[in-house]
Amino acid sequence: MDEALNNEKDQTEQLDEETLFIVSQTFKALGDPTRIRILHLLSHQEHSVNEIAEKLSLMQSTVSHQLRFLKNLRLVKYRREGTTLYYSPDDDHVMNVLQQTIHHAQHH
Ligand SMILES: [Zn+2]
Repeated sequence: MDEALNNEKDQTEQLDEETLFIVSQTFKALGDPTRIRILHLLSHQEHSVNEIAEKLSLMQSTVSHQLRFLKNLRLVKYRREGTTLYYSPDDDHVMNVLQQTIHHAQHH
């Protein structure tokens, strides 16, 4: 095969730096029990920080911190209602990965 063509093919099969960074950060986000609990809760229904803290018995500051992390990675989004922010999954991609992984953990 032509050398130039070979190199071109190699290039297209490589993940770019930004993609690698985001994917590894996303798996890092899923690698924490507290963040998994928050994402799992939000996958069923949107919640405010207070509601998440109450349902999962977490400090509000902990929830806020984790939501910022998840928001930066586009795993969650929020809508504002008055002074309250309601969080929900940003889209289904990572939620599907989480759901699949939960199913995998629970089947025997
Ligand atoms: Zn499985």
